[in-house]
Amino acid sequence: MGMTQEYINNKTLKEWQSSFPLLNSLMAYEPIFWMNSEKKTVRSHLPVLPLSEEDIMDAERRWHRFAPLIQSLFPETEGSQGIIESPLKEIPKMKLSLEEENGMSISGRLFLKCDNELPVAGSIKARGGIYEVLKHAETLAMEHGMLSHEDNYAIMASERFRRFFQQYGIAVGSTGNLGLSIGIISAAIGFRVTVHMSADAKAWKKDLLRTKGVQVIEYASDYSKAVEEGRKQSDQDPMSYFVDDEQSKELFLGYSVAAYRVKKQLEENGVTIDKENPLVLYLPCGVGGAPGGVAFGAKILFGEDVYCIFAEPTHSPCMLLGLMTGLHEKAKVQDFQIDNMTEADGLAVGSPSALVSMIVGPWIDGVYTVGDSELYPILAGLKDLEGIKIEPSSGAALLGFKRFKENHSALERIPMKNAIHIAWATGGLFVPDDQMEAFYRKGIEKQ
Ligand SMILES: *Cc1c(COP(=O)(O)O)cnc(C)c1O
Repeated sequence: MGMTQEYINNKTLKEWQSSFPLLNSLMAYEPIFWMNSEKKTVRSHLPVLPLSEEDIMDAERRWHRFAPLIQSLFPETEGSQGIIESPLKEIPKMKLSLEEENGMSISGRLFLKCDNELPVAGSIKARGGIYEVLKHAETLAMEHGMLSHEDNYAIMASERFRRFFQQYGIAVGSTGNLGLSIGIISAAIGFRVTVHMSADAKAWKKDLLRTKGVQVIEYASDYSKAVEEGRKQSDQDPMSYFVDDEQSKELFLGYSVAAYRVKKQLEENGVTIDKENPLVLYLPCGVGGAPGGVAFGAKILFGEDVYCIFAEPTHSPCMLLGLMTGLHEKAKVQDFQIDNMTEADGLAVGSPSALVSMIVGPWIDGVYTVGDSELYPILAGLKDLEGIKIEPSSGAALLGFKRFKENHSALERIPMKNAIHIAWATGGLFVPDDQMEAFYRKGIEKQ
């Protein structure tokens, strides 16, 4: 009597569950593999998209124009002449260990894309976040006749430019790492910058930003709320620019350049991607921008020879939920009684990006979920076997094989024989030593 029935987009939870039986496992926080049965070819989907290869090339050219400025602001990029890039490392010992642990053999070669070592921001957010702020700075300076494409962009480090940029604000909502990247680059250029942090954000990330003069506003709620509040406050100030992680094309394009860099790095390793030697990407996913951008670039470059698999926490499977149900950005894990609480703070997002769902959703081969407790042994194993330090979110990239093992059908579409696997390590460089040590301890306890 008087019971109100909760509807999610005109269907009850029970109706959703009977339409998508995998929801029961998802709602029980069981690690699962979801295969995209409606995958589209590049050729059939690309023509309807608002972005093309030319946009990626434009982004790459912009990165190069900014290289002299980046080099002068961040001496750690001197070795790469101001290009922010990370190594691609083959990790044979880790591969062997994963094979032993899962009682399976992994055909092909396994590489780690070490965005955990990306300079300036310490995570994959160095690609998207920094790119968008630089592009905004370029636009403002050009609108005011202070800059042209032919200039050496290092002039932007001058006092004249700093004073100019100080008139303007930048704002962003974040679970931590995006805030770090936006805060660091904006402060370095001279913008007034405000970062709206969700409850998941680690204290050290907020502290680090404050030491750089960034205004940090904390929220007791999750990422969506931090974004919403940040957007609202920024919109009230005509001089403020909001970096919108949920719908930004600029962030997305900043990430997409990674695929071109990887292609070159694979060639340096003697690897050419083709039908017989396909590329399989394992990409940790939060709101979707980073893995989506990388996947977009990869699909443009490698077409049907690349397979893109996203990884999410069992407690924050927003992209899986959105793609499986077709709810896309309207999917909210909390509506499905999933709590969005995870140690993988970079992935603690309850609703996926509309832009990414639309652009890359049809190209994703599958999404798997990982439990927090599975992340630490990966983190410890990488440190012991390969000497590589990652944060928990990154560990999700190396759990794909375990999910394959449990779901044989997941493998059917991918010709694994000579596959080149790239697990994308998305963050780690700036994690304080004591916290890294604590993660590591949890990892060896579990083994
Ligand atoms: C942000 C982040 C991701 C995922 O990126 P989204 O754009 O949110 O999907 C993965 N790993 C780490 C460490 C991150 O900070």
